[in-house]
Amino acid sequence: MEIVVHDLRAFAHDRHAIVDDRPYGGGAGMVLKPEPILEAVARITQGRGTHLILLTPQGRPFEQAVARELVEHPHLLLVCGRYEGFDERVRERLCPDEISIGDYVLTGGELPALVVLDATIRLIPGVLGDTDSARYDSFMEALLDFPQYTRPPVVDKLSVPEVLLSGDHERIRRWRRKEALRRTKTRRPDLLRRAELTEEDRRLLGEIEEEKGSG
Ligand code: SAM
Repeated sequence: MEIVVHDLRAFAHDRHAIVDDRPYGGGAGMVLKPEPILEAVARITQGRGTHLILLTPQGRPFEQAVARELVEHPHLLLVCGRYEGFDERVRERLCPDEISIGDYVLTGGELPALVVLDATIRLIPGVLGDTDSARYDSFMEALLDFPQYTRPPVVDKLSVPEVLLSGDHERIRRWRRKEALRRTKTRRPDLLRRAELTEEDRRLLGEIEEEKGSG
């Protein structure tokens, strides 16, 4: 895997390598000119089967499922905006995938590009030391991750759940699944509504409800 950073100014042809200009119609801020971006995309993507991404708060929301989709592409080109964003003709000409990392506005697309890259790259087989690390992460199976503990077994009178010290793999698996369901139900019921639940999941959710009733 290789990451290459390109400077948009290298694709501007005037003496000062200008890549922005005032908006037609007036108003605040500057707009990224279309020609340097169109030229950069044409030169960088040549014959590479590139998946082109424009980072923009107006794009589709970035989530784990999008990272899983992106990791399948052999070559990604992420275009970062600045100022008021891109001249609309960039979108019209290139029809890129447009991605937002959340409903807030940052100064530039550099941090969003790093977020998208990090989440995607860690899904490439071999990038993480243990292939199972990503498998059980939050969102991978539409659920939040289960609570994690490490040594020592007791800290400040707080103990690690007994089941995790039992060495009983089946009990541990069941406990983790149940706690992932409990956490998702409490914090992100929207995810739980979309999740494909197994028979066991439904049983565990029933137990969680009963515990709430008796607690
Ligand atoms: N005027 C634009 C709008 O309201 O849609 C915002 C432009 S923003 C100040 C400048 C650049 O930062 C954008 O072109 C984009 O590349 C990047 N950016 C800012 N917030 C972002 C977000 N939530 N997701 C992805 N990119 C973002």
